Amino acid sequence: MEIKQKIKYEAERSPGFSEAIRGVTGCEQLQNCIQCGTCSGVCPMSLYMDRTPRQLMALVRSDFKNAALSSYAIWLCAECYSCTTECPRQIRITDILYELKQRAIQERVYPKKFTIPVLAQEFYKMTRTQGRVTENFLAAFTFLKTNWKMMFGMWRLGLGLMMQGRFPLKLESIKRKDELARMMKTVDNLTINALPKKKEISAEMHGGGH
Ligand code: SF4
Ligand code: SF4
Repeated sequence: MEIKQKIKYEAERSPGFSEAIRGVTGCEQLQNCIQCGTCSGVCPMSLYMDRTPRQLMALVRSDFKNAALSSYAIWLCAECYSCTTECPRQIRITDILYELKQRAIQERVYPKKFTIPVLAQEFYKMTRTQGRVTENFLAAFTFLKTNWKMMFGMWRLGLGLMMQGRFPLKLESIKRKDELARMMKTVDNLTINALPKKKEISAEMHGGGH
């Protein structure tokens, strides 16, 4: 993974982003971060991250929205909650990272060829339409969108699964998919109604008049 560290400029900030994140339940304490680095120190994944948890907290707090949402680090978080447990300011870092992941997908700014966000979306799509996940199809769809050549390296595993009857050749699904579709539509409507209206978002991103 290529690590890019560069100077950040005022023009890259998205005013209101930090406030919007702090408005989410569980993320309220972000502003109390003292940049002590305990979260990065205890994080088992920080060694592999392009931005450490401490850096991510600083970026979000200072409204560097694009840098935070497009980082690989938010997808490498293993959700072990060590950082949250150890933070001396009771900041729920893991919950903040969850929120960043959701926003990265909503705004389509995640690293496009990176397996984890693509897998998350394919998993969601399959569960939503079929009511079940068929693992070999899920892996195939993910590889096709990220690194299709990797599929050839897995032929032995595929063959082994096939011989054990664990390699379905068509998508598995639940029986009453129409009921699932109705349920998902209801959830969608509830979510849309709960989202802030366009005017509210605009006010939020411009500092809400403060
Ligand atoms: S441990 Fe808490 S206070 Fe320290 S840098 Fe991380 S988020 Fe900030
Ligand atoms: S929850 Fe994520 S960021 Fe926090 S310590 Fe675990 S892997 Fe690192």
